[in-house]
Amino acid sequence: MVQINANYLKLKAGYLFPEIGRRVTAFSQANPQARIIRLGIGDVTEPLPSSITKAMHAAVDDMASRDSFKGYGPEQGYAFLREPIAQHDFQARGVDISADEIFISDGSKCDTGNILDIIGDGNKIAITDPVYPVYVDTNVMAGNTGAADASGRFEGLVYLPGNEANNFVPELPSEKVDLIYLCYPNNPTGTVATRETLQKWVDYARANNSLILFDAAYEAFISDPSIPHSIFEIEGAKDVAIEFRSFSKSIGFTGVRCALTVVPKQLMGTTPTGEKVSLHQLWNRRQSTKFNGASYVVQKGAAAAYTDEGKVEMRGLIDFYMTNARLLREGLTKVGIRVFGGVNAPYVWLKTPNNLGSWEFFDMLLNQAHVVGTPGSGFGAAGEGYFRLSAFNSRQNVEEALERIHKVLQ
Ligand SMILES: *Cc1c(COP(=O)(O)O)cnc(C)c1O
Repeated sequence: MVQINANYLKLKAGYLFPEIGRRVTAFSQANPQARIIRLGIGDVTEPLPSSITKAMHAAVDDMASRDSFKGYGPEQGYAFLREPIAQHDFQARGVDISADEIFISDGSKCDTGNILDIIGDGNKIAITDPVYPVYVDTNVMAGNTGAADASGRFEGLVYLPGNEANNFVPELPSEKVDLIYLCYPNNPTGTVATRETLQKWVDYARANNSLILFDAAYEAFISDPSIPHSIFEIEGAKDVAIEFRSFSKSIGFTGVRCALTVVPKQLMGTTPTGEKVSLHQLWNRRQSTKFNGASYVVQKGAAAAYTDEGKVEMRGLIDFYMTNARLLREGLTKVGIRVFGGVNAPYVWLKTPNNLGSWEFFDMLLNQAHVVGTPGSGFGAAGEGYFRLSAFNSRQNVEEALERIHKVLQ
């Protein structure tokens, strides 16, 4: 019989979102008349902007005629998308990233997992806690950890706790680590890293020859002009960082699928014998071998986000969700709940009332308000006693959810 990758068996059986699904299904079977409002999983709800669907329709028409038909595209993505990204997302902010340092893909979730293909064994890996579970689980699958303890922490990983004292922006590791996952604006806490904080991380990485994997999936939601959108806005970052970005949340592409990963050409890793090797070349090799590019139609849609019309529509979409976030913040504060995030990110992170456990609060909201959120403990041990609400929903649902929460908590 075939040997399986036994690392998968180390993963916790009750993964967060299936467990939420199980409890919601059980509740709705027992209460079929209840109208449940889901502010749990971070998925967008609003339709695509029309400039983007127009570009996608035109791209479908290209496929319908011999002259404009496209077969396999470049594995790295089309220049018509890489170039505007380099210009608008980086060069316009004074960041010297060129189009050929940008790799287009079908998602950041896959890229943040796949990147481990070009990372060797034996690295010390630091992960913030609470955290986007993909970073942890992909390292478990790759065999970079031991087993999990009772709190769900894996042996071999360095956990950097976020808490109210550090405003959910963890301190630097006290030991030397080789690989660091950072996500700002943060999922799940909705908090951001200032320029000074990111400079501290880049300086640490330079001093320790570490690599920072920077997930900027929510950069488009930043409203404070002093907050960097890219790690590459920080002096020296191009020697120590890879950045992941996604169109999923900014233009509602969770179901369409398009993202990008920036690997600077000067970024190096090392072999066991100490030779320096370009990570850009390795990632290019990995993508050319295991990936055949994102769809032409999808890339045409993403490129439309950089037109004048597309930019205005994208702003409208983001403002819509961020108004939801503000309503959640204000509404929760009014009933005495302590909230974090929700200003530069579409997530509101809250301290559970009366020191309830994360799952206790989940059950209370589900049973009494018919509102679904995400227990903070599902994002890591340091998330216990906290709870995440997502701003991705219709205005009507957000307002009704708040009214119901008020009734329960008053
Ligand atoms: C939503 C999200 C992404 C985007 O993933 P895609 O695969 O591009 O949809 C990446 N990172 C974080 C932290 C996210 O929450």
